Amino acid sequence: MPRQRHQRCPACNTNSLAPSSNPAIFDCRECHGLWFEDGSLNHAIAQQHECIDQYEHEVHLGPALRTSDRHCRRCHVPMVHYQLLAHYSTEIDCCPTCDGVWLDKHEVDQVMHSPKIKQALTDLNQSVTWKSWLFQFLTAMPVEYNVKPHRTPWVTRALVALCVLMFGLGALSPEAHEWIFVNLGLNSDTRSPSHFVLQLLSYQFVHGGLMHLAGNIYFLWIIGDNLEDALGHGAFLALYLFAGVMAALAELLLFDTSQGPLLLIGASGSIATLFGLYLMWFRHASLTFMIVVYQKKLAPHWYFLIWSLINLFGMFTSQGGVAWAAHLGGFALGLMLGYLLKDYVFRKNPLIAMLNRSEAVLQR
Ligand SMILES: [Zn+2]
Ligand SMILES: [Zn+2]
Repeated sequence: MPRQRHQRCPACNTNSLAPSSNPAIFDCRECHGLWFEDGSLNHAIAQQHECIDQYEHEVHLGPALRTSDRHCRRCHVPMVHYQLLAHYSTEIDCCPTCDGVWLDKHEVDQVMHSPKIKQALTDLNQSVTWKSWLFQFLTAMPVEYNVKPHRTPWVTRALVALCVLMFGLGALSPEAHEWIFVNLGLNSDTRSPSHFVLQLLSYQFVHGGLMHLAGNIYFLWIIGDNLEDALGHGAFLALYLFAGVMAALAELLLFDTSQGPLLLIGASGSIATLFGLYLMWFRHASLTFMIVVYQKKLAPHWYFLIWSLINLFGMFTSQGGVAWAAHLGGFALGLMLGYLLKDYVFRKNPLIAMLNRSEAVLQR
């Protein structure tokens, strides 16, 4: 009979605990939570992370919070809640007598990744410094706070290089500038279908002025690396080019050609799609916003809301020279794709998924 009692799940209160392939870990057949016998969780964490020799609750989780209403499967004493991490509001149950640990199903991943979450939250919760202030004051560009990507962003770098190269070639002579503008920019009067298809791709790399180029490649640089990391190189490239094509089509659709042909250049439409994706997957990131001399870290949804309002204002007051429809169309496409691909991206990137949970406490 005592064996029966030992199989009691601390969460379900039924005899549903079954031994797993690891003799020190028990799995609940009902709720799929895990019971770690004697310190086996501590061993598992120490093994996964080289930086931790010996894992101890008090050292890694801080002081105990309060007594839990769950009981240890062996000692039958009430367990104790520990906060998993500072700035991460997940609690786990530990037995004060035998060092057994109970984890609900959703907590398992979080505990195994806890050193990474901790590092990420430390990076994300940094406050702005005089350096970030000076940078934004001088350049009028936001400073980004996000997790460091694991992969080298080769595609992002290549896209930036191509934009710069194209601009550099155009700067060689007025003839070169004219040739690039006419042949590689998008022109709604282009008759040859194959040339038009080429222009749908090439217009994304042509820029009219230095500020236009600098603004676009800066945003591509700061948010492209995280998106490329989340999606993988190939998918990121395909999505970026597809976004540019769709943004051009949105602009063509709303453009009144009775006033002459549409001439479209620049990466803004594709980058607007990246904004939408970024907003859907990186709620934990921050972009700084500056009002005169006051700098503030904003969540992406606030940052891009302000950006959208500026674009809407531009569209309704019909300020010429800027492809407002391409911006907003691209952004809407990004939001939609971001929503559709969210599960896929979170499955591939557990850390991003965990930082998106409401448990991650972000300081802005
Ligand atoms: Zn259970
Ligand atoms: Zn115990």
